[in-house]
Parts: sequence; structure tokens; C-alpha cells
Amino acid sequence: MENLLQKITSFAKQKGFVNQSSEIYGGFESCYDYGFLGTELKNNIKKQWWKNMVQMRENIVGIDSSILMSPKVWEASGHLTAGFADVLVECKECHKRFRKDYLKNNKCPECGGELGKEKKFNLMMKTSVGSVEDKKAVTYLRGETCQGIFMNYEFMRDSMRMKVPFGIAQIGKAFRNEITPRYFVFKMREFEQMEMQYFVHPDKTKKWFDWWKEERINWYINLGVNKKNLKFREHKKDKLAHYAKRAIDIEYKFPWGWDEIEGIHNRGDWDLSTHSKHSGKDLYYDEKSNKRFIPHVIETSAGVDRSFLVFLMDAYEEVKGGRTKTTKSTKEKEIILKIDKKITPIKVAILPLVKNKPKIVKKSKQIFDLIKPYFMSWYDEVGSIGRRYRRQDEIGTMWCVTIDFDSLKDGAVTVRDRNTMKQERIKIKNLINYLQEKLK
Ligand code: ATP
Repeated sequence: MENLLQKITSFAKQKGFVNQSSEIYGGFESCYDYGFLGTELKNNIKKQWWKNMVQMRENIVGIDSSILMSPKVWEASGHLTAGFADVLVECKECHKRFRKDYLKNNKCPECGGELGKEKKFNLMMKTSVGSVEDKKAVTYLRGETCQGIFMNYEFMRDSMRMKVPFGIAQIGKAFRNEITPRYFVFKMREFEQMEMQYFVHPDKTKKWFDWWKEERINWYINLGVNKKNLKFREHKKDKLAHYAKRAIDIEYKFPWGWDEIEGIHNRGDWDLSTHSKHSGKDLYYDEKSNKRFIPHVIETSAGVDRSFLVFLMDAYEEVKGGRTKTTKSTKEKEIILKIDKKITPIKVAILPLVKNKPKIVKKSKQIFDLIKPYFMSWYDEVGSIGRRYRRQDEIGTMWCVTIDFDSLKDGAVTVRDRNTMKQERIKIKNLINYLQEKLK
């Protein structure tokens, strides 16, 4: 089953989705670069999340806070102590290090050697800021995006006149010095999070926790992820992170087993209380009835990269011998990326039937120019039309628009659907409307 991970990793590289960071220097472990198609897919995932979490809700606002913050933030939040640390063990023979909770037994998984004593290993990445060497201030690349949200809780509450319950959302990079980065973009040292902190009355935490966990799992399902591959997993009380009162993961059935893609956490009043105490700033909330309280936080914390991997894996399909049975010659397997139309990297491919007829090429380029402002599109004239259809199916392109000899006479083109392979003849003047309707 791990085979699918290898397949996806090499597929992502071959087709222009993801590359190893610094590859020409032999790569840089645990970091990846997104290519054109990968960036498009990732941006579309983020857009859909933002639309769902911010645009469609009247009481959630979005922000973009800085990655570098005062080290006081991390002292107060508990990230510099054992709270934000994993238990590490080192092999006495090969000196490789492993996360204790990933090990099946007490032997080194690489060489079978004896393992040393357990140590707590802090995950925060240290850096220094300033131009004068001995006056440089030590700070940290943020280990989670939500601390930036807590820093802006009062700012947003007051300037946007937010009333409890309300949320603040943010998408951005986070950094963790993971002991065991693994499984392609699943666990990296630099990654992206989509987080939303929902500030609620202390008596309402259960209600909102249960509500958000359903909202969040439905987001994946509505974007085409197979329900059967998703489930909740509640954390045991004694395994909770230092800030959490309750935690449920949304898990996906990866080739290596069920694993986390998003966490729903009840953070209680931990963050606002600790920042209130350490900064001296009153972060209480005043209700009309003059009751004062520190709002409790229900958080939804999703990984952009893990979602990316889920959407890619779940949509990847191989058809032995190909889908078209029109030619008798034996065909190799065909790949179709049946990814949701809203997030697929390229919506429309413009394909002249032949590339050696200037009139057809000219018309095709005109159509490309016509639809470019509306949809992420791609122009391709190289290879047989069947081959070009396959190429677009592989990268998930939703519609192929073919311009043929008749197009020059009847002002119409053929639109082919990726999933059904059905073809429809559409007038060029109606093409944008037709595609916009389909995309809804
Ligand atoms: P894990 O147990 O897998 O290390 P976590 O429980 O520490 O993850 P959280 O702190 O809850 O993760 O982070 C919220 C989300 O951020 C995760 O569900 C995941 O999608 C994403 N995430 C966390 N760490 C990484 C990482 N190293 N690489 C990629 N995504 C990550």
C-alpha cells in the first residue's frame, strides 16, 4: 500500500506539482518546492478554505500576521518549554534519531541497534534578528500560526466590532524542527497551516466544538474526498497538548494507515489568559450585561500540505488499458486525476485539432485569449489529439476545448468533459457562459 505514496511522489515530480527543495545540490531534507500545477492546486485549496471560513460567514475575519514575533509570545505560550517538544531517542549504533511515539519496539528501525535514553526535544526553530552581531535578538520562526491570531484578538475585536462568538482566520507558514520528517509533504519542517480560532463564551465550548468538527469534515467531503477515507479520532485526556482541554483529529486513510490532517481543539482560556498575564494587557471580554470573561477558544487547525496530499491521493485513478475502447491496439494504463473542479489546477485546455493549419491555430489562440481572463487555461498543440486529452486527464484539467475544421465555418468548438469524456458542440460566443455555469 505504501506503493501509492511512491507513485504520488514521482507523479507529482514528473507532472510539475512538487519538487525536492534545492534538488540540484542533492536536495534539502524535509523541504519541498511546489511547481506550477502544485502551486495552482495549493492556492485553490487555500482559496476554498478562505471562502468557506471567512467569506461565507458573517462573524469570522481573516488576518495575515508576521512570521517573526517577539520571543515573549513564545515564552508566554509555553512553546519554549517541554510543552512543545517531542520525545526523541537516539540509536547507540547508527546515531539516527527517532520520535519515540513512532517506534513499534525498542530497537532502531534502521539498523536494529539498541536505543539510548529518551530526551525531550523542542521543536521551535531559533533565529536571530538585527544587524549588529552581539546585539542580535534571538527569536523563533513561528511553530503555529495561531499565536499571531491571539496577538491580534483585541485589534480585530475592537476595530471590526466583533461580538462573541466570533472567529479569526489565517493561512500561513509554520516551522517545526521535526525529529522524523516523512511521507513526502505530510510531515515537513516548513509547512503551511490554515487555522481559525473561534472565541466563545466559556459555557458554550462543547456546543461549538461539536459544531466545528462536523463543519470541517464536511469541507473535505464537499470538495470530493471519499467519505470512507475520513474519520474522527479523539485524543486521550493524558495525551493532550499543553494548551488543550479536548482534541479531535480528522484523519485520512493514508497508504501507511489512518493519520491526522486537521486538529479540532478546545484550547480553553489558556492562550488569552497567559498572554493577559505576561503582557499585562487586559484581554477580558465585556458583555452587554457587564459580565466579564476571558473567551474560550475552539480552534480548527488544518495543514495546507496535508490537504494537498489528500486531494491528490484521493483523486488519483489508474485505468488499466485506458478508458477509450475505440482502438484495438493494446494500451498502457491511463491516469485520471479526478480532482474537484473548484480546486483542479487547470480548468480549461485549448487544443487545436492540428498544428499545421494556420487558420485553426489562429482561431485557437483567439479562443485562448478570450477565456484566459476567466479560467486558468492551458494551450497545447503538441502531439495527437488523443494524446493531448490523456495529458490533460492526468493533471486533472476539467475541460478540453478542441478547435477543428468545422469551427472555422460554424463558429463552434468541441468541449470534452474529463470525467465522462462526453463531448458537446458549443458556440464560441457562448463558451464563457457555458463553462462558468459548469464551474458553479
Ligand atoms: P503530528 O502529530 O502529525 O506531528 P500535530 O498534532 O503536532 O501533528 P498540530 O499541531 O495539531 O499537529 O497542527 C495542526 C495541523 O498542521 C496538522 O493537522 C497538520 O495538518 C499540520 N501540520 C502539523 N505539523 C506538520 C508538519 N510537520 N508538516 C506538515 N503539516 C503539519
